[in-house]
Amino acid sequence: MTPHLLTHFAGGSRCAAHSGRVAPVFNPASGQHVASVPLADAADVEHVVADAAAAASAWGARSALDRARVLFKFRELCLANAEPLAALISDEHGKVRTDALGELQRGLEVVEFAVGIPHLMKGEFSDGVSRGIDMYSLRQPLGVVAAVTPFNFPAMVPLWMLAPALACGNAVILKPSERDPSCPLRLAELFAEAGGSPGVFNVLNGDAHAVNALLTDPRVQAVSFVGSTPVARHVYETAARNGKRVQAMGGAKNHLVVLPDADIDQVIESLIGAAYGSAGERCMAISVAVVVGAATADALVPRLAERVRALRVGSPADAASDMGPLVTAAHRNRVRGFIDAGERDGAQLVVDGRAHPAVNAPGFFLGGSLFDHVTAEMEIYREEIFGPVLCVVRVATADEALALCNAHRYGNGVAIFTRSGGAARDFAHRVQCGMVGINVPIPVPLAFYSFGGWKESAFGDQNQHGMDGVRFFTRLKTVTSRWPAGAAQASFTMPLLK
Ligand code: NAD
Repeated sequence: MTPHLLTHFAGGSRCAAHSGRVAPVFNPASGQHVASVPLADAADVEHVVADAAAAASAWGARSALDRARVLFKFRELCLANAEPLAALISDEHGKVRTDALGELQRGLEVVEFAVGIPHLMKGEFSDGVSRGIDMYSLRQPLGVVAAVTPFNFPAMVPLWMLAPALACGNAVILKPSERDPSCPLRLAELFAEAGGSPGVFNVLNGDAHAVNALLTDPRVQAVSFVGSTPVARHVYETAARNGKRVQAMGGAKNHLVVLPDADIDQVIESLIGAAYGSAGERCMAISVAVVVGAATADALVPRLAERVRALRVGSPADAASDMGPLVTAAHRNRVRGFIDAGERDGAQLVVDGRAHPAVNAPGFFLGGSLFDHVTAEMEIYREEIFGPVLCVVRVATADEALALCNAHRYGNGVAIFTRSGGAARDFAHRVQCGMVGINVPIPVPLAFYSFGGWKESAFGDQNQHGMDGVRFFTRLKTVTSRWPAGAAQASFTMPLLK
């Protein structure tokens, strides 16, 4: 099969790239090179930014109600196309089809939140703050904004950004991951079909060159980024230096703390899904189990190992698969490299995913791996592996478990499993993390809350979606208004309280 050539999306339709540079897009389940994605050059960036700049003010001038109706229609079209959208996700990412449908649904929940934009953008009004003077505030769109997204959620993370940005009246340039760009391109088509004005939702395909051009272009007012921490830091610093507002979410190493009184069956069921779902390629995946007490660990590890060995690793299209392949051969090699490092550093490899039979099939498959007796100095504990590898760290006390979570440079999600309300409450209060689960392994905030980590998991003070999304994608303006009957008297002093 000859790989087909993908395009950008600007001015309301797909458009051929100027640049001759391309990157291969693989089907991770077959290992085949199925498409080539253009990597934008300066002319491509200019084309897309100019289209967005031309469209922004008219879209921002449409009423919030009108924009909400377009988003409503967009949601309906996405739902009607859910299966083919999920297939596009699975075919380029490798996650199982039901998980792809789930990601789409979580993304559409942000659209559902954003259709409330006429209410969400309402300002404040104070009648008569002084004699004959009223004061009110309003939120206005920024203009052109950029959204730069990672490979692991090609629908959900773009929708986190697109829904509030578009609802607030901005024109968006989405720079999706070059590894799975087909679903984002299809979302742009559906938005145009829903009545979105041409130039309002654009897709610029490319790599670091395209991102860096957006970070320095004076027409781009804000940058919303999700990806790995080194790139998040670079995006945050560069965009801020160029006078833009920026939110940049980075990597993670999410811990699940098991106290001795936890329900072990519940812990096992939670760990198996949270560590190995989507082959561990989730920023909220649990990659470390911190087990308090040797007896708890001894009870947990053998039973967990049994479940890891039994994971059904196979085609994403097969309803029986628990886990599909990793996204690329290079990423699988990287994850394998971490497993090698864990062994070298002296961790006990209880289940070795490199030995899973699926590894011999075409495609980028790897079985689930489980390490026990991992320590804080080891590379597999310090680094984000982003694959189906779970590390068990044994500690003696709950305080030690908390200290471990707090000392890690990442602070995205964390969970505690216990039957003690007091212990859970104390942990939730003291842990240095943005999102906390109590007997919930993946505590992703729903669309009407905001998503974001602490420490090196996020740069910038506004999180994704919820009211933070509305605040991030608008500017606040406050108006002081007076309609005097005659000429007002000059005043040379700050007004005194009377
Ligand atoms: P990545 O950082 O490699 O890429 C993210 C985006 O940045 C892509 O669009 C890519 O083209 C672009 N990019 C890559 N290198 C760049 C550079 N040098 N300069 C400018 N732009 C560059 O991330 P990924 O591998 O696609 O995604 C996985 C990472 O994303 C993991 O670290 C994961 O934890 C993280 N992630 C975080 C969250 C969160 O909300 N915190 C959510 C999802 C994924």
